[in-house]
Amino acid sequence: MNDYLLQTVGLTKVYGQQRAVDSLSLHVPKGAIYGLIGRNGAGKTTFMKMIAGLAQPTSGEIRLFGTDGEADSRQHRIGALIEAPGIYGDITAFDNLKMKAIAMGVYNKDKINELLSLVGLSDTGSKKTGKFSLGMKQRLGIAMSLIGTPDLLILDEPINGLDPQGIIEIRGVIEKLSREYQMTILISSHILDELARIATHYGMIHQGRLVQELSRQELLDKCAECVEIQSEAVQEVCLALEEMGCGAYEVCDDVTVRVNGCCERVGEINLALAERGILLRGITVRQESLEEYFVNMTGGAE
Ligand code: ATP
Repeated sequence: MNDYLLQTVGLTKVYGQQRAVDSLSLHVPKGAIYGLIGRNGAGKTTFMKMIAGLAQPTSGEIRLFGTDGEADSRQHRIGALIEAPGIYGDITAFDNLKMKAIAMGVYNKDKINELLSLVGLSDTGSKKTGKFSLGMKQRLGIAMSLIGTPDLLILDEPINGLDPQGIIEIRGVIEKLSREYQMTILISSHILDELARIATHYGMIHQGRLVQELSRQELLDKCAECVEIQSEAVQEVCLALEEMGCGAYEVCDDVTVRVNGCCERVGEINLALAERGILLRGITVRQESLEEYFVNMTGGAE
């Protein structure tokens, strides 16, 4: 047994000649908000569909809830909002939830009211959902996927196309689900910054493959402040840094060296390089943004 609610081993989906998901091995800890990040076409939806039982893997394994996931148990323990929520526009939010709950054999009026309150739709009363904003529809979609109280909630790009207010509302719902219900949430996006404030873990995928899997702290460490030195004399710069005991540094290209940490010593470094007669193009303290890091990890800005 381990503490992963979901683990995949070499999960693969091939469509014709295309490996939409290529040997993905991901680890989603219990209680995590796991951000699946990848550009359009990276394979996020296909991966999520396989987890939700909506697509059959070509090969590989899905281990759910610490066991080999079985299709039957999956249905009740996974809630998924993949692509557009299946909402009837000519009835109310309550009736949409009621219909789905009846279909699943779990109808309970109080529970539906609780779900409406959870996603901030309690006051929509007799308003037909066809008149809802996109953000309200997304929140109703989340409520629909919560019927049956799943252990794992899968949300495919739930903030795509929303305005800033809508994004804040969805984030609020996700944080509440995590904090108050300890729900494990797998959420995808093609914009890392959108998830940066809520995700506790990240899986970055590119062309169906896993590029990197890391916790929020590991990601923040990777994007920590550094001193960036630009000079034609890279070798001399490296030598000087070693003599000064500056710790880890990285030669990024022909003219750029980055020193991790050491930001408080930037003046001292500048002086030491000048004393050695090393000509600089520039020296700055910089922090790579999460988005920059993600773009660099997934093949640069194309
Ligand atoms: P997006 O955010 O654009 O939906 P994604 O990361 O979710 O991107 P997928 O939708 O999983 O990516 O698609 C991955 C690749 O698999 C794409 O190249 C897509 O064209 C292909 N693909 C997805 N579903 C099918 C299908 N049913 N038949 C054939 N190819 C498919």
